[in-house]
Amino acid sequence: MKIKCDFCKTEYALDAAPNSPVKCAVCGHVWSVARPNRRGAWMMFIAATCALLSAIVFAVAVVVRSRMDDAAHKPLVAEITEIKTVTDKEGTPHFVVRGAVVNQTAQIYGVPDIIIVSRDGAGNPIARQKFLPSAPLLDAGASVEFNHVLSSTTDGVKKITVELQTGDM
Ligand SMILES: [Zn+2]
Repeated sequence: MKIKCDFCKTEYALDAAPNSPVKCAVCGHVWSVARPNRRGAWMMFIAATCALLSAIVFAVAVVVRSRMDDAAHKPLVAEITEIKTVTDKEGTPHFVVRGAVVNQTAQIYGVPDIIIVSRDGAGNPIARQKFLPSAPLLDAGASVEFNHVLSSTTDGVKKITVELQTGDM
């Protein structure tokens, strides 16, 4: 690279940018040579991008792994997608709970009974209602929807959750 004395404008040819200040052999002026930073900045950008990408890959790996752990523990997952209210002939309101059971695994699973739990404001169960899924078996990755009218009233119900009956219940 070429550098020029700030003071007397004498030019010098250097093999590399000096790390410490340089002294002009002609006039004795001492100055710091700015490092050629265009390439350096570009390399920094690439390094930062690589770091970011590896962080993203790591995050994806963590998410995928936790999903797989989840699938190992809970092959079937029940979820509520919609809760509506209907009123019967006596004028009593009931909840209509819509949702689905999803098979998260790569194998066929039998669907257990679905239990809908009505809970109060503190999350304590008020009523549990069990019903059969419309499909007894789920293919790998398949899901079965449910749409169930609760026979209990909506009185005091602040939250509704869904569970699958496990073998030990
Ligand atoms: Zn000089």
